Amino acid sequence: MTVPLQLEPAAPPGGPPAPGPADAPGADEEERAARRARGLSPSRAADFARCPLLYRFRVLDRLPEAPTEAAVRGTLVHAVLDRLFDLPAPQRTVEAARALVEPEWRALREREPRVAALFPAADGAGEAGGPADEAGLQRWLASAGRLLERWFDLEDPTRLEPSGRELWVEAPLEGGPVLRGIVDRVDETAAGDLRVVDYKTGRAPSESFESAALFQLRFYALALWRSRGVVPRVLQLVYLGSGEVLRVSPDEDDLRATERKVRALWEAIEQARRDGDWRPNPGRACRWCDHQARCPAFGGTPPPLPLLPVPPVPPVPPVPAEADGPGAPDAREQVG
Ligand code: SF4
Repeated sequence: MTVPLQLEPAAPPGGPPAPGPADAPGADEEERAARRARGLSPSRAADFARCPLLYRFRVLDRLPEAPTEAAVRGTLVHAVLDRLFDLPAPQRTVEAARALVEPEWRALREREPRVAALFPAADGAGEAGGPADEAGLQRWLASAGRLLERWFDLEDPTRLEPSGRELWVEAPLEGGPVLRGIVDRVDETAAGDLRVVDYKTGRAPSESFESAALFQLRFYALALWRSRGVVPRVLQLVYLGSGEVLRVSPDEDDLRATERKVRALWEAIEQARRDGDWRPNPGRACRWCDHQARCPAFGGTPPPLPLLPVPPVPPVPPVPAEADGPGAPDAREQVG
């Protein structure tokens, strides 16, 4: 049995986490808050590991954050790479990708009007700026085009037919969080082997940071294993900033180790939730943090903690039949 994966929109540039089923229209606000509180994405897991207070601001308080040029360019490039696969394979050329940049920018501005504030006069959205904003916008769009050109040196989209793009994955762990997130691309062979692909618009990390960079993909691989019963054959990070590709082939032991790590993080999150103790942990992340004004590490005061429902433990569906071969784990064996 294969548990169907659900499609969800991409994450907004900057700001609180992307909407998911927890934010579905019609869902009761309390239920939405509870669903958010029991979910964990790789980004929010990394937030908590860096700074528990940052996690609180993003997940519990859901404080808005200003979009940045780099973050919005990342969203734009991801949107173009997604749309490109709507075209028939022979038409997926570098020219086609460049031609998608402006329409996708307009579409992004419509979906997320606040991104227009990056180039106010160029978009007619404000009084500030002028020709300089228009020139800045054109330079910024060109920089997105260069990242896309580099992608064609790394992969050939005319030879790819992804089975999933911007794919929402979700898998509950027994007694733990619901793993969730959005996978940029999933390729699948006729034999059912999966390759999980994530695009990065920055540069590849040094060797000592590769493992941390791959945590996100191992997290997705764990969610896919738990929901589909299949261990992805390849995890692939595509760095458009430096034109490099990082690949690993995980096995079940790797994913069990990832699960232990996720469980340990979740335990710490639950402890912080019980104690109401979301400590700041000043470090490199502070440089890019939008919340310094309300952070005690910078002399600020956090807002009162919102009253949120205690997240119930979700039920765990049966392990798909594909996972029942020799050496395959039972989901319940993994608990504890
Ligand atoms: S400013 Fe630094 S310590 Fe304060 S919340 Fe942000 S990341 Fe955490």
